Amino acid sequence: MKFGHNFQRALENEMPPGWSEAAIQYKALKKCIKRFVYELSSLGLSAETIRRLISSSDENQQRAITMTYSLAKEGHVVVPKIVVNVNFEKLKDDEFAASMVKQLSASSNIANSFHTPTSRTFHINEKGGNDNHCSNIKVGQINTYTDDSEVQQMELLLNFDHEFFEKLTTELQNVEHLQQQQREILHSAFENLTHDISLTASPVSKKHYNSLYCWRTIFRLYMDADIFMSSKEADGNRERSPELAQRHLSWFDQQVRKAHCLPSSTKHHDWVFYNQFVELNRNLLKMTFFQSMNKLAVTKILKKFDKRTSLTAQPLFFKVIDSDPLLVADNVAKAICFNLNSKLFSVIPQLQDFECAICSNIAYKPVRLGCSHVFCLHCLIILQRQKVNLCPLCRAEEVLKADSRNIDQALLNFMKTFFPREIKQKRVENEEDLFTGPSTSVRVISDKNACIIM
Ligand SMILES: [Zn+2]
Ligand SMILES: [Zn+2]
Repeated sequence: MKFGHNFQRALENEMPPGWSEAAIQYKALKKCIKRFVYELSSLGLSAETIRRLISSSDENQQRAITMTYSLAKEGHVVVPKIVVNVNFEKLKDDEFAASMVKQLSASSNIANSFHTPTSRTFHINEKGGNDNHCSNIKVGQINTYTDDSEVQQMELLLNFDHEFFEKLTTELQNVEHLQQQQREILHSAFENLTHDISLTASPVSKKHYNSLYCWRTIFRLYMDADIFMSSKEADGNRERSPELAQRHLSWFDQQVRKAHCLPSSTKHHDWVFYNQFVELNRNLLKMTFFQSMNKLAVTKILKKFDKRTSLTAQPLFFKVIDSDPLLVADNVAKAICFNLNSKLFSVIPQLQDFECAICSNIAYKPVRLGCSHVFCLHCLIILQRQKVNLCPLCRAEEVLKADSRNIDQALLNFMKTFFPREIKQKRVENEEDLFTGPSTSVRVISDKNACIIM
């Protein structure tokens, strides 16, 4: 993930105190790599040599010396392991391998760790056959690749790759710790705010209707804006990059202002809550940026590690930490947004969830058929007059059975509370229908008459 330069700088400047200290320390890790490369080269292990040793081609299987690299987790720290496999039978025919083994065994700081308790001393013939020159490297008696060849392994114990991974995993834990804290702070801030909004927008009296409709518009625009996650299936419900999220957040703010749903006085508590809402979203954005920035830093530093050493740390590292819940932060924005969206829906229901599938207006008065589908009374009466018996949604034979007992009273009261303006409008339209008649030419009755018919 790449960030636009200006965007990155702007966000970095806004980072809350303590955040940059907790972030992945790229420069320090880079120094670590440098020291490790030096350590390797003192053993004759240049990147080019390691590439030759580590490649797993068939040809390599025949080689006298190969190298295997792995990462494992001890506690929460990732520990590297470099193992040199030596086939002593082939060693005398392989000049490169022989000199390699000689060089490695001459080093005192390596190869002290063994896989099996069985160990022995081996001798390396110098060119010219000086048998007295022996190294005291002990090697483990290890698994053999083929039945007739004896392959032994010795582990290279180096300092700076251990330091590198210890540093990296510790920093990742710091990052996750900070994110955990921030997540809790943001989470409760959102909770408190939605609670406040639910109080001001609660339609306990006509006085609150403006707030109710104001927040319904804001929340609808908020859902439409899809700021942190794309809700489109084509996008695979993917999280957005912080830069894109930033653009969606500005779009949302512009739309709210364009909609003129907020009161004219900016001192009004709805404005105060709205500004808080936008601010919290900005904080969430900073967090996603922080998260992506660290992810990027880890990927980049491992790439550098691999490039300088020819080892394959990057894929191994992500595989190893993947199973560690402490090290792999779940997406903060995703978790908070999911929670927030469901909360917003329950605080202020949206009209689209209460529409009649036939007329696309509010399904008032709501008639619940035996198949549990809900239509407005107006449309249901038209269906009955046309002697249509099949439910338009599921084709169950339920329409003609319905009578006044099918009116969903609880839903009706709920709609009256939360959609007073839509209901009023619907009543007016139904009255108009009475005089003009709908396109079906069936004379339609007002709600009052409809009850008698049913
Ligand atoms: Zn309808
Ligand atoms: Zn149905």
